Amino acid sequence: MPGFEVFGEEEKQQVLEVFDTGVLFRYEFGDQRKGVYKVREFEKAFATYTGTRHAQAVTSGTAALKVALTAMGVGIGDEVITQGFTFVATWEAILDIGAQPVFTEVDQTLNMDPDDLAKKITDKTKAIIPVHMLGAPARIHEIKAIADKHGIPVLEDTAQAAGARLNGQHLGTFGTCGTFSFDSVKTMTTGEGGMVITADETLWRNCSEYHDHGHDHTVNPGARGGEGRSFVGFNYRMMELQGAMGLAQLAKLDAMCDSQREHKAIFKETAAKIAGVTFREILDEKGDSATFFAFMLPDSEQAAKVNQVLRDNGAGAINFAENTWHFYPQWEHLLEGKTLCHNGWPFEAHGKRRFIYDPEMLPASSELMSRTLVYQIPVKLSDTQRETTLAALAKAALL
Ligand SMILES: *Cc1c(COP(=O)(O)O)cnc(C)c1O
Repeated sequence: MPGFEVFGEEEKQQVLEVFDTGVLFRYEFGDQRKGVYKVREFEKAFATYTGTRHAQAVTSGTAALKVALTAMGVGIGDEVITQGFTFVATWEAILDIGAQPVFTEVDQTLNMDPDDLAKKITDKTKAIIPVHMLGAPARIHEIKAIADKHGIPVLEDTAQAAGARLNGQHLGTFGTCGTFSFDSVKTMTTGEGGMVITADETLWRNCSEYHDHGHDHTVNPGARGGEGRSFVGFNYRMMELQGAMGLAQLAKLDAMCDSQREHKAIFKETAAKIAGVTFREILDEKGDSATFFAFMLPDSEQAAKVNQVLRDNGAGAINFAENTWHFYPQWEHLLEGKTLCHNGWPFEAHGKRRFIYDPEMLPASSELMSRTLVYQIPVKLSDTQRETTLAALAKAALL
């Protein structure tokens, strides 16, 4: 999964070009920068790569979600629907703009269940965020069709799926906008960083201005400071070193996914011999970024037994039902409404609880996650890791 596995001369060269100018900042310093605009170049390259019109670089994937939601005009009192299996960042961004996260079940894709989505839409729903978890697509066509019927925009949280496609089209380009993360463990990394992509020029302008205190980069691209502002903003600016890293990593992204697909196929072949095993539904195997390999056992007891054998043999798998960062019932701070704010915001307003979450409200997801085991797939697979993992899977097949 992580792009840091392939850091090399390309990254070094890109970053050195920034140091040669001494300009670490994306805006201004026109005379000094000798034409070097790494963040701007990275945005252009990312938009071209994904096949969309606009890209806005920001400081993180979480910031990308918040910038996109804000640019879409979502805020206080609105409901935003996402799935109960995701990283906490997805709903942190929703809470941070004052909206309420509403969670759907996941299905065999381990992503948003469209049938459950249809049931959770209310007249307060102002955005839908399917998450392409573990590098592979949600049922984005079905989700989009339901959203379109209600006139609700779709924001694809593509943080874990840079480089993944569905029938040739990049994830993140099906909805109104898509967001990406380039943090330390993502398929391509800039250390920290994120991106919003969209084909909608107005939405992109909103992102661009909001992420930089309201500065208008289109009318006044170089010399900032004299212009007025259309609305209040914040600072989520990416720096040039990250843009440089992004250019080097983006150029390696397809090759990284290719080698992950190869490694995943090796593990899958042996895992298929485990009694009762089934696999996560991947809507397009060729477009899979293959950052993860997920397989299911018939029930949680068998999953636990299999994982015990894998662990005993040095190749334990992740069970996201036990993981405290990615699955709804494990988010005690959300369920209990824990916040630093003295008046309880964002969980409380005017002394009243705004919403209450029941840890048992996603039974289908809980059942599915409890029997799902997941391996992270490396870009570089050492002989030792391959042999250890295959031997462990072969032992599990003897159960
Ligand atoms: C990593 C991640 C994010 C947040 O990205 P950061 O760059 O770490 O802020 C958002 N959503 C999902 C699904 C993620 O995995």
